[in-house]
Amino acid sequence: MRNWQARLDQLSQQGMLRSLRVVDGQGPKVNINGREALLLCSNNYLGIADHPALTEAMLIATRQYGTGSGASRLVSGTMPPHAALEERIAFFKGSAAALLFNSGYVANTGILQGLFGPDDVIFSDELNHASIIDGCRLARARTVVYPHCDVAALTELMADEKPHRKGRWLIVTDGVFSMDGDKAPLAELCDLKEEHDALLMVDDAHGTGVIGKEGRGTGEYFDCLDRIDLHMGTLGKALGCAGAYLAAEQVVIDTLINNSRAFIFSTSLPPGVPAAAMAAFDLVDSEEGCRLRDKLEANRKQLVGLLTAGGMDLLGSTTQIVPVLSKDPEPTMKMTGRLLEDGIFLQGIRPPTVAPGLCRLRATVMASHESVDLERAAKMILAAHKEFSG
Ligand SMILES: *Cc1c(COP(=O)(O)O)cnc(C)c1O
Repeated sequence: MRNWQARLDQLSQQGMLRSLRVVDGQGPKVNINGREALLLCSNNYLGIADHPALTEAMLIATRQYGTGSGASRLVSGTMPPHAALEERIAFFKGSAAALLFNSGYVANTGILQGLFGPDDVIFSDELNHASIIDGCRLARARTVVYPHCDVAALTELMADEKPHRKGRWLIVTDGVFSMDGDKAPLAELCDLKEEHDALLMVDDAHGTGVIGKEGRGTGEYFDCLDRIDLHMGTLGKALGCAGAYLAAEQVVIDTLINNSRAFIFSTSLPPGVPAAAMAAFDLVDSEEGCRLRDKLEANRKQLVGLLTAGGMDLLGSTTQIVPVLSKDPEPTMKMTGRLLEDGIFLQGIRPPTVAPGLCRLRATVMASHESVDLERAAKMILAAHKEFSG
């Protein structure tokens, strides 16, 4: 006990202690500690996590099937909403089949452990999500980390590995990087994996529902959706629900059903969740979905334009994830504190989530934001940056 407290004290002294805040809704305005604030750090990008169509779908399925599924998928935990949603996701991604997982974290660990082993090599972007890193460890595959989005460096690393090749090769990347908001060069990665008879897995947690004209993700944006072997995505961000999926060939899905420990040994999602996610896909596919994506893009452009004009370093963001570089932990946390006082809620991101010296305020734009609120937020961010980090 004493050691834990000492470690926490040390973190606190370094400005690195993390703690929780209670937020009372989906925004765009929320209440935090009795104070109203603009929510600028939710991944509810389309603003549909409290949409009546989703809530209603969840209620109907919950009344019909109950609150919990009662068992893991292989026992009695596969209910009609789970099966229907998997079919829908496969269609959405243009794949033969799909499989649900209880969260994105669980999906990445379960997919990589379930499909790869010690004879295989996984080439992983250095900025990939923590759940991919943990999945590589669980797979016990040889993991080769390549410099961020650097296709030339990856090409060399693959050439180095070639003489000792024994098993399968996988390139794994976020579609949209969660802390930088840039996109992976998927078309080039497709060329490379085809050249080397490797597989490509894309984690589109931040692309699904928002990137691409139809919201099919980063693969649609780069016009290479049908070349991606393993489409991972989540249902808890733009889709406003919970859980995650892999869309892939049938043999891949069957292998996971038989071999993925995170899939096998866990009670499946409550039936109301896949029912709500089905309604979310209906929305993403509708004209309302198109309008929401257009609004999100307009909001993103507005915020990026104002912050860039104010001289901020946005770390190459090209999506609704808009990081503002603040470098060190202390100014970063002072900025988030000041902004909360000003009625703007966003999170400061510190190591180990990002590299030392690259702390940032990670702003995320939603379709539900109003232009006047984003204008005020940009003004406050610039003022806080000038005060603490300028
Ligand atoms: C959020 C996220 C995950 C984890 O998904 P959850 O459903 O929140 O567990 C995985 N990968 C990336 C890139 C993410 O941003």
